[in-house]
Amino acid sequence: MITVTPQSALLVVDVQKDFLPGGTLAVPGGDEIIPVINHLARLPFGVVIATQDWHPADHMSFVTQGGPWPVHCVAGTDGATLAALLDDEPVGAIFRKGRSRDVDSYSAFFDNEGKRPSGLVSLLKELGITSVFVTGLALDVCVSATADDAVKAGFEAVVIADACRGTGPAEPALADLRRAGVTLTTSDRLA
Ligand SMILES: [Zn+2]
Repeated sequence: MITVTPQSALLVVDVQKDFLPGGTLAVPGGDEIIPVINHLARLPFGVVIATQDWHPADHMSFVTQGGPWPVHCVAGTDGATLAALLDDEPVGAIFRKGRSRDVDSYSAFFDNEGKRPSGLVSLLKELGITSVFVTGLALDVCVSATADDAVKAGFEAVVIADACRGTGPAEPALADLRRAGVTLTTSDRLA
């Protein structure tokens, strides 16, 4: 078992309507992780932080701009809101990423190009956080990038596999995370 302490943070990555079934960039089974996250968020983490993908309407990642993704999570739209069933009461802070038109940000910590910091490292260090537990969508994109950057920033990083869903099969992404020094666990092993 892993004991959750106040020196641990729970990150809830991009659990937004556009990434759920029915959304414009739906992750298969994305809605199935919401009750798992709601349970985890009630464990004694020092802080629970949610992220939101939060793009301008002409963001470079959109197919309409020559990017790889369908239009999703446009700032201020219904699709960018957190999942309706996600319990936001334990959420202490929200970080919005991908806000600049010309650069994407898969990781909650740094953008994809200049590796400009979002401020999340500073916040976690101010709070005395040493371990970061990562959940959310999508496992192989924003969850992986966030967990990798948590390791690089000097945190112990743990991905809670059953609290994540990917765009494809989980195992290649989980193997990459293991190689990057991320600890993998499941929600039933946390208390
Ligand atoms: Zn995006």
